[in-house]
Amino acid sequence: MDAFPFLIAKTALLILAAALIAEYVIRRRTLHREALENASNHQQLSEYSQELKTLKKNLVRKSEIAEAIPLIAKKMTERLTQDAFPAIAVRSAKDLFHARQVGFFAPVDDSHDFTLEVGVGFPPDWQGNIRIKSDEGILGMALEKKTVIARVDPLSSSGRRVSHQSLEHLKVTPDFVAPVFGVSGIMGALVIAGCPLPLEEERKYVSMLADLLSIALRNATLIDSGITKTWADHLTGVSNRLHFLQRFESEIRRAENYGQPLALFMFDIDEFKNINDSYGHSAGDQVIKKLAEIVRQNTRSSDLVGRYGGDEFMVLMTSSNKEQSQMYADNLREKIAGADIQIPGQLDPIHLTISGGLAVFPTNGLSTTELLHEADSALYEAKRMGRNKLVLAQSMGLDGTMIGGNRPKRELPAPPDRERESAGEADESSPKLFSNKG
Ligand code: GH3
Ligand code: MG
Repeated sequence: MDAFPFLIAKTALLILAAALIAEYVIRRRTLHREALENASNHQQLSEYSQELKTLKKNLVRKSEIAEAIPLIAKKMTERLTQDAFPAIAVRSAKDLFHARQVGFFAPVDDSHDFTLEVGVGFPPDWQGNIRIKSDEGILGMALEKKTVIARVDPLSSSGRRVSHQSLEHLKVTPDFVAPVFGVSGIMGALVIAGCPLPLEEERKYVSMLADLLSIALRNATLIDSGITKTWADHLTGVSNRLHFLQRFESEIRRAENYGQPLALFMFDIDEFKNINDSYGHSAGDQVIKKLAEIVRQNTRSSDLVGRYGGDEFMVLMTSSNKEQSQMYADNLREKIAGADIQIPGQLDPIHLTISGGLAVFPTNGLSTTELLHEADSALYEAKRMGRNKLVLAQSMGLDGTMIGGNRPKRELPAPPDRERESAGEADESSPKLFSNKG
């Protein structure tokens, strides 16, 4: 009898224990499943957050590019001289790609080498001096393939020769090399090194910048050639008469404002008709061309060389007084007399001389007309004295009278402003031209 309640209690306890164990097992399983789910959620969350970070970075980069590219494009479309554009591209690339080194390397005349034309982060003595072989390393690859090459490209350095004249040997590790094209082919290459950004992403922007530079250089060349056509003498490439006279006018104003002297040297080939008669008109043309070349080679870049017409030239020397310009003009006369001038089809070179007249502002005149007249009279005198001579214009005395006698006027092709004044010029009593003559 006593055992029955005990049995019931024991059974109840067993059932309770079994229920507890079952619940424990179920809970553990649930917890385990939840833990697994949590872990996977956590991983997914961190992946999402990573993705978000990358998206945010890309977005920041894209908006940086979206702001910078139009500004660069704007600068590249300004009316600047050709050599300004590589410098703009270099500065822009440095900022845009956060790069340590950016350089524009351009071909060196008469060689296959490239040199640093403009750059940041390179040794200062590299500019214009360093010689890089254009067929070596990553530079060679970009020039050969005519496309942007990145350091990460499999072909960037494989199997390419690198001598001591390569960027790689000179401790430059370009991340990108982008060829730049002008009107007549490759004009240079942009080299970008030390770029901390993901190169694969940046390649398209490097390509964009190189394209902008190419377009700017091509436009500048085309504009320059258009301008050249309007100011250059067709045979010699020096200034034509109209352009020379316009510059002469403005240089006189400048000289006046700054209290500087200005010299006009006018010269004419001696006995040029003989050359035409002996060798023909086209040989004569070549002689005129060659003469212009000699004059240009022996003139400062600040001076202006012009062809007045026929065999007559002029050089305008800024900031030059009588002594300086006299020395220059006489040197030039001697250089021309000593030059061997080759005539096509002729074995032996010919030699020629010039006669010149020199007039200085303000001593010999205050206007283009007065100075042209004075230089021309001096030139006439040089011819009269036997040619191959330089004659200085007669100086104006303090009282307004000329020191020395009046010189006769030579036949001269009339410039446009002189044509207008030709009536006054022919009139020896014209106060503007001749009031200073005794
Ligand atoms: P002078 O010493 O007095 O200057 O004698 P010149 O023979 O040089 O005579 P001048 O300067 O008066 O004449 C220049 C000649 O140059 C006249 C013309 O036949 C020739 N000439 C003018 N323009 C050209 C040109 O574009 N090409 C060629 N070949 N000859 C030209
Ligand atoms: Mg002559």
